[in-house]
Amino acid sequence: MAVTRQPALELADAFAQRFPQSLALASRAATVFPGGVTHDSRHFAPFAVAVDRAQGARKWTVDGHELVDYWMGHGALLLGHNDPAVAAAVQAQLGRGTHYGASHALELAWGELVLRLVPSAERVRFTSSGTEATLMALRLARAFTGRSKVVKFHGHFHGWHDYVAYGVSPPFDAPNSAGIPAETLSTVLLAPPNDLAAVRAHLDARDDVAAVLLEPGGGSNGLVPPDLDFLGGLRALTAERGVVLIFDEVITGFRYAPGGAQQRYGITPDLTTMAKILAGGLPGGAVAGRADILEYLDYHDDPRWNRHGRASHQGTFNGNPLSAAAAIACLTQVASGEPNRKADAIAEELRAGLKGVLQRRSLPGWVNGESSVFHIVLAEPGLTPPGTPADVFRLTRGPVANALRQAMLIEGVDLMHTGAIVSAAHTSADVAFTLDAFDRALTRLEAAGVLPLE
Ligand code: PMP
Repeated sequence: MAVTRQPALELADAFAQRFPQSLALASRAATVFPGGVTHDSRHFAPFAVAVDRAQGARKWTVDGHELVDYWMGHGALLLGHNDPAVAAAVQAQLGRGTHYGASHALELAWGELVLRLVPSAERVRFTSSGTEATLMALRLARAFTGRSKVVKFHGHFHGWHDYVAYGVSPPFDAPNSAGIPAETLSTVLLAPPNDLAAVRAHLDARDDVAAVLLEPGGGSNGLVPPDLDFLGGLRALTAERGVVLIFDEVITGFRYAPGGAQQRYGITPDLTTMAKILAGGLPGGAVAGRADILEYLDYHDDPRWNRHGRASHQGTFNGNPLSAAAAIACLTQVASGEPNRKADAIAEELRAGLKGVLQRRSLPGWVNGESSVFHIVLAEPGLTPPGTPADVFRLTRGPVANALRQAMLIEGVDLMHTGAIVSAAHTSADVAFTLDAFDRALTRLEAAGVLPLE
């Protein structure tokens, strides 16, 4: 890669000049938070931009600059920031209490909505996050099958707990974190994405596989796109072997369709994990699926079952009333499919426009994605889409990606890494602004010697 030192530093200088108050906050944060941030994904060089407020598709930095936002609350905000109905529902609930330490009607209405919208959901249990949802799904699959191993795929992300922090980014045979016991890692069997033969080989070789877990929209939020024949084959194979198929719909749920990727693709998993849009932009997650599997959370008139047979589950904020209020206000809108259609259409406009900019400038690369999610991959000549997981990770998380995001922030757009999560609040005017910003950002990258790649 041809990064000439001096001009690349100029990009960082321009960034620092543009966001001085963010820099001041980042300096303070570095003495409070390890890494200066509260989520690994928000770690950014030379420093993270800090946001003061947000509305619709926009957010404003503490430096006073308006940004078109493509993070959308890490994907939680299909309706955009501060959707009026969601905000009103949360405000109304605030006056009625934020935690009852008891069952309540709102959590029930929320659960009924999930059952109505998500095709595979016969029962649901709420958690507080997506990480907790995948943790619970694995526990349920293990309780149900009496087996211990889980197959997951290179590049697929399922939260940060020990059972899934493996095979997420290259090198795929190394855990994604220090501090995970080797015994735990040995419960995970990895397979390349979209490789049915590799999954079959695991299932042929052993009889202790409880579950296959995957992001149905493709690994790392669609960065490694799914193959629909593979998904269908995986459904048939897992059903045949009595292995629990878990769709992690934390991103795709209520986004790819009101009923998630399983509705869009017409493939029904045994269990589904959800979060983000599920809770209307507030904290919350869930596991839903077959009644005979979720039944492992049920109580029987049998002390032995209750103590030794069932799967236990606690969580102070499960089914929280504020989250339930936001969720109902959000999911009742999602039920019409209109927010999904709007966000999908804007994302398609963006994908076409961004590809056009790359073509006009004769820059190699591609734009990946479907529904309201996509990734821009600036590639070396000769690489073709979709690329290997190792290539797309290198190109969307490395120095080129960092420079692109810096340049886009300077130009008024906050890309999610090199990609975007689009909301129903984004408009064609946002598309036009973003395409101009992308063109100007690429000019900056050429001037900085970051592009073209060789
Ligand atoms: N699964 C997927 C597919 C995700 O994208 C995420 C979060 N980005 C998670 C699980 C974890 O969710 P949370 O951050 O709520 O723990």
